[in-house]
Amino acid sequence: MAEGKKTATKKPAKRYYRKRIELFRLIEKIKLWPSRQGLLHGIKTVDLFGDQARITTHCNKTFMINNSRNSRAARWLRNKWFKGVCETCRIPEWKLAKYSATYFKRKYGSTLANNERST
Ligand SMILES: [Zn+2]
Repeated sequence: MAEGKKTATKKPAKRYYRKRIELFRLIEKIKLWPSRQGLLHGIKTVDLFGDQARITTHCNKTFMINNSRNSRAARWLRNKWFKGVCETCRIPEWKLAKYSATYFKRKYGSTLANNERST
């Protein structure tokens, strides 16, 4: 399968998520976190505690978050508001490319829910 060879220039497929997607589902999927300073961090682990989650980034920051669709982080993630990428986290290029090919729509896209039916 010579044609299946991976190239750095290969564009990731576009993916669509609902705007009202649960924050926890979203970050478990994309594994990125926008800090208040506007830096994008890579998420190493997400530990769920009911309505809260403990996030550990690759640069070893740990903090608790709430599962809010309207939180600052949820909005920043959806709008792709960040001015830089954390150097310590070393987010791979493909992950950033995948993120930039991710779109959030009000009426279209996956909610990543377990019981989701394809429509
Ligand atoms: Zn970081």
